[in-house]
Amino acid sequence: MGCCDTPGLMPIDTAINKMLESITPISQTRTVALDEAIGHVLSADICSPMNVPPFDNSAMDGYAVRACDLEKSSQMPVVGKSFAGQPYDGEWPQGSCIRIMTGAQIPTGCDVVIMQEQAQVSGDMIDFSQALPVKAKQNIRPIGDDITQGALVLPKGHRLTTRDIPLIATLGIPMVPVYHKPKVAFFSTGDELKPLGAELKAGEIYDSNRYGIKVMLEKFGCEAIDLGVIPDDKSLLKQAFQQAQEQADVVITSGGVSVGEADYTKEILDELGEIGFWKIAMKPGKPFAFGHLLATNERQQALFCGLPGNPVSAMLTFYILVQPLLAKLAGNSEWKAQPNIPAISKTPFKKAPGRTDYQRGIYSINEQGQIEVSTTGNQSSGAFRSMSIANCFVVLEQERGRVDVGETVKIQLFSPNFY
Ligand code: AMP
Ligand code: MG
Repeated sequence: MGCCDTPGLMPIDTAINKMLESITPISQTRTVALDEAIGHVLSADICSPMNVPPFDNSAMDGYAVRACDLEKSSQMPVVGKSFAGQPYDGEWPQGSCIRIMTGAQIPTGCDVVIMQEQAQVSGDMIDFSQALPVKAKQNIRPIGDDITQGALVLPKGHRLTTRDIPLIATLGIPMVPVYHKPKVAFFSTGDELKPLGAELKAGEIYDSNRYGIKVMLEKFGCEAIDLGVIPDDKSLLKQAFQQAQEQADVVITSGGVSVGEADYTKEILDELGEIGFWKIAMKPGKPFAFGHLLATNERQQALFCGLPGNPVSAMLTFYILVQPLLAKLAGNSEWKAQPNIPAISKTPFKKAPGRTDYQRGIYSINEQGQIEVSTTGNQSSGAFRSMSIANCFVVLEQERGRVDVGETVKIQLFSPNFY
């Protein structure tokens, strides 16, 4: 135990490392069409089968000339054209130029392209005197300038982004090798939870966690299997766990992992698997369960994550603890948590030493270019509006107490899949 560890509470990094140690990445692969590949993880390197651009081409609309001709005369006639997709293929007489458009192939022998804004048409001749002196290879994009044939373009383990899709298209590759997406079955637990649209009776609330979990899973590149709301009933819960395990690599639940009378999750999981119920040194999000649902004759082994029921805690524990696990399972070897960056507090932050707080904050840049951060207000783990209006987490170290205005704190900007 380190100097700052609180007895009975597991530090966040310890929890993440323990989970990661027990995970074997998915090894099944397939190929997907490029237009469906976004969010998949590459199961093999993508190397370029060609040079990009595949030929020397013009960066401007203008005129292709030979520098040696310009030394003799700054005026010359146009003898032909090279347009995109229609190269000039005739003989090119000395002392003449070729009209050329952006992206068109550079005629053999051309070593300078002069943009049309620097050329004057005078009768049958083009006058280039305004463009002098010229630089060798000006306005010419050489073959392989962007990517050379055989170069590693995207490595195995990389999760495909919006920006990668046109890159792969540039290489002419229609199908890409990817890992199967993790299948994740999830359900909410609680007698009080009602579906949206239902009329609430006394003591009931709407089930919001399932909506948050589903959208986060999908944005993280998982196949989300929604098993609904399961009441606090031992036999129904056990059935739900078994049904989830039959279909998924990972089972995620929310609620029922603390120590309430109706929290049956622990009892059931003692029967179905090997699960640790942890108290994590983070706030919100202390109760968290992790383990395995063991293989039987009918079912394969599955990972299990039990999120706390309070909506802010459920989303935060998913974000901080479950995402690294899913990244490793998905074969996404490049994944990293967002970095912590320093910011000046514009408001006080209430904090007691003992756990790492992930308070919800709003950052902005002041006139001096410094990052400042304010609290979103109510930091209760049941108050979800604080999550919605925030644009960052304010990460307050485990040992830290109250923060006053002007102190430096660390903030973590939300990852793109939180938008
Ligand atoms: P539990 O962990 O089951 O004791 O739940 C803790 C708190 O979170 C209680 O106030 C629950 O009503 C609430 N809660 C649990 N599950 C959900 C859910 N799916 N959506 C919204 N609130 C929930
Ligand atoms: Mg409950």
